[in-house]
Amino acid sequence: MSLRGPDRRARLLGLSLAALLATSLAGCGGGPAPVPEYGSTPLPTGGAIHVVQSGETIWRISRRYGVSVDSVVQANGIQDVTDVRVGTQLHIPDPADPEGRRPVLAPPAPDPEAIDRAVRDLGLEFGWPVRGSLNSRFGARGRSHHDGIDIDGRKGAAVVASESGRVIFADRLGDYGNVVIVKHVGDWSTVYAHNKRNKVRKGQFVEKGDLVAELGDSGNASGAHLHFEIRRGRTPVDPLRYLP
Ligand SMILES: [Zn+2]
Repeated sequence: MSLRGPDRRARLLGLSLAALLATSLAGCGGGPAPVPEYGSTPLPTGGAIHVVQSGETIWRISRRYGVSVDSVVQANGIQDVTDVRVGTQLHIPDPADPEGRRPVLAPPAPDPEAIDRAVRDLGLEFGWPVRGSLNSRFGARGRSHHDGIDIDGRKGAAVVASESGRVIFADRLGDYGNVVIVKHVGDWSTVYAHNKRNKVRKGQFVEKGDLVAELGDSGNASGAHLHFEIRRGRTPVDPLRYLP
């Protein structure tokens, strides 16, 4: 994929957007599957932060990073190794893999149940962004990955905010055409692509149900439809899990 024009401009936007969209360009137009980055963050000290997922134990986490259970227990002041809550951020000192390279930051796959709980805890209730029929689902698409769902609709139809939040992007973005991105509480965001026209500005606050765009076929779209994504951090999740 070339990086001229809108793509290039997109790359020059703020860090948070760059991070948010780092895996986005595989949308409707195909492309390489995104590399999930979830659960661990490198620290400047060479250690890592691991976010405990459902079903994980201190033993399993320690083994994953090639460190001793004791070092994790001590680094985090853990009193009871059998009682470490999902979502806890653990400092992993000096992670190393069996071959001695360091740090090893292989992220665990997102745990759907943990994600569901996180949405509930934040009080997020995503709504359908447009009336229309589902024409493509989230997931593997040949050798690439579809990071959202496609909803067919009439050109010019109202596209509304799926949940309340702040508009962090409203511009053209390569194959996505006219795109609006709304940031919600926590680390969640929604993406509305292929719009005929964006109807909000960056920085604007929108309530759930507010008009954000007119449905269209801008960018690499075979017909008028909304490409809609829900993301947790950089990771796209299946919107159908969260829509009523
Ligand atoms: Zn799509």
